[in-house]
Amino acid sequence: MAKKLPLNGTCAICKGTVTKKEAPKHLQKCLQPKEKNEKTTGRRKSSAKIFHLLVEGYGLSGDLYWMHLKALGRASFGDLDMFLRDTWLECCGHMSGFSAGEEEIDMNEKLSDILSPGQTWLYEYDFGSTTELLLKVVSEFEGSLKKGKVEILVRNEAPQIICNQCEKPATTICVDCIYDNQGWLCDDCAGKHGCDEEMFLPLVNSPRTGVCAYAG
Ligand SMILES: [Zn+2]
Ligand SMILES: [Zn+2]
Ligand SMILES: [Zn+2]
Ligand SMILES: [Zn+2]
Repeated sequence: MAKKLPLNGTCAICKGTVTKKEAPKHLQKCLQPKEKNEKTTGRRKSSAKIFHLLVEGYGLSGDLYWMHLKALGRASFGDLDMFLRDTWLECCGHMSGFSAGEEEIDMNEKLSDILSPGQTWLYEYDFGSTTELLLKVVSEFEGSLKKGKVEILVRNEAPQIICNQCEKPATTICVDCIYDNQGWLCDDCAGKHGCDEEMFLPLVNSPRTGVCAYAG
């Protein structure tokens, strides 16, 4: 395994820096005051059911990559699928699916019809070179979104991955060598690397980095 140093994320609400561990509590505080204000002033503009979700890499993709999201209860699993593809995963339009236990979740189903606080479920993108994500409902509350159906609250900063050949930060992945754990390369070492350049992918901040043709 290449050396990876996990880094913090930035809270989209207060712009503060949080570690992965701190993020759930931090967000609960950051999400709360607004709610109270709205209640006391009595003017809640188009308030709707919102889920606070945690999404993280699972299995092979590891838990270095994580995001806290705010999603409308009336959004469908298909909407969430689109969002995950856009932000993290899409390389060449592979199949994907959500599942809870043994049960597959229909993409047309609404989040609020299935989810409740504390619940966890899985997402798989590409049933060949699968990227697995674990999703968790952190909380449920009334609120609104700026736009769209899903919003990022906190996302991990790009983990620092160290070149397999030297100690510099890796920037490139050789897809051919990744399975021997020799595929993480810095600019200099990528230049000297023997493999065809067609095997190179840029290192990106996603649980799908180095997989299939994913280039961010
Ligand atoms: Zn914050
Ligand atoms: Zn692909
Ligand atoms: Zn190097
Ligand atoms: Zn190579």
